[in-house]
Amino acid sequence: MMPVWKNQYPGTTGMMGRRRLNRTKVLRDSARVRFIAVAILCGLIVIGLIGCSRTRLERGQWQIERPVTEAHPIKIVTTTGMIADAASEVGGRWVSVKALMGPGVDPHLYKAREGDVLLLADADLILYNGLHLEGKMTDILKQLGDYIPTVAVAEAIPESLLIAPPEYEGNYDPHIWFDVRLWMRVVETIRDVLVELDPSHAADYRANASRYLQQLEELHEYVWNRAREVPERIRVLITAHDAFNYFSRAYHFPVRGLQGISTAAEAGISDVRELADFIVSRRIPAIFVETSVPPRYIEALREAVRARGFDVKIGGALYSDALGTPGTPEGTYLGMVRYNIDTIVSALLQQPLSQYGIEKQSGRASI
Ligand SMILES: [Zn+2]
Repeated sequence: MMPVWKNQYPGTTGMMGRRRLNRTKVLRDSARVRFIAVAILCGLIVIGLIGCSRTRLERGQWQIERPVTEAHPIKIVTTTGMIADAASEVGGRWVSVKALMGPGVDPHLYKAREGDVLLLADADLILYNGLHLEGKMTDILKQLGDYIPTVAVAEAIPESLLIAPPEYEGNYDPHIWFDVRLWMRVVETIRDVLVELDPSHAADYRANASRYLQQLEELHEYVWNRAREVPERIRVLITAHDAFNYFSRAYHFPVRGLQGISTAAEAGISDVRELADFIVSRRIPAIFVETSVPPRYIEALREAVRARGFDVKIGGALYSDALGTPGTPEGTYLGMVRYNIDTIVSALLQQPLSQYGIEKQSGRASI
C-alpha cells in the first residue's frame, strides 16, 4: 500500500510563491532537485514561514512501499550514537544507520550542518532523543517529521516515568539513557516502528529486540550491583553537568552536576564554592569529567577543593551524552554504560576505605 504523503506547506505565499513539496517528490527526484527542496525547507524554517497547523504524518501511514532487502535497507538517521546503536541492534541487516553526532559531540549545542540536512531529508526514518536534548536542532527535526517518519524516542516514554527537575523550567530531563530500564523502552519503541515500516521482516525485528533486551536487563543488574559496592557516605557522583539524574534514581546513587541539565548553562562561582565545601565535608575521593563537555569547570572545582586543604582526584572521563569511538567497547551503549559504572566505582574506591572510617560493604543487594 502506498503511504499517503499529503502534507504540504500551507500559506507560503509572497516572495516564495505558493509551493508544494511532498515526500514522494523528495525521494524520487535527482539529488540536485532534492538539494533544492531541502534548501527550500531550511529556508522556510529559518524565515519562519512554516506554521504548526498542518496535518502531521502520523503513525499508521509509515509503511515503506519498496521491498526492503540487504542491498536496499531502511535508511535510518539518528542524532545521538546511543540511538543509532539501538537501531542497529534491532534492525540488524535490514537497516543502515547513520548518527549525526559522533564521539565527543555535545548534543545540547550541536547545530545541523548542510550535509546533515541532506542526510535527514534522504532518510526513511529519523530517530532523535527529544525532550530538548538536541536544543539547536529541534525545529528542523519537528518540521522534517511532517514529511518523513520521525520519532523522538524519549518522548514516547510515559511522562510519569520522566524526571522534571524544578530548575529546568517545567521541562523533562532528556538524559534517559542512564536508566537502563528506561532505555529498554526506547528499544521497544524502535522495534515497533520498524515492524510498522517493514512488516515483512517483523519476526527479525522482534527476535533482535528480544535478544538485545535480555542483554540490557543483564546490564541493568550489573550496574545496580556495582553501585552497591560504594559505601553510602562517599556514594556521590560529581560531574560537569546534570546528565546522571536517571542513573541516580535508578541505582540509588546521588549525583551533583555543576552546570545543570544543559551544557548551555554556565556554572557560577557560588556553584563551585558550594560543591567544593560539600566534597570536603564528605571527603569524596573523586570527581569526573565528561567526554562531550570541556573539563574547565571540573578543573576549577578541583582547585577550589585543594584550596580547602583536601585533594579530590579526577576519577576519569565519563561518557555522558555521546558514545566512545566506534570499534571500541565504549562505542556501544552496552560498553559505554559498563565503562561508566566501572570507572565511577573504581575511582571512588581508590583510597583505602579505612581512611574514611568505612569498612567495605559486601554482598549483593536485591533490585
Ligand atoms: Zn547532557
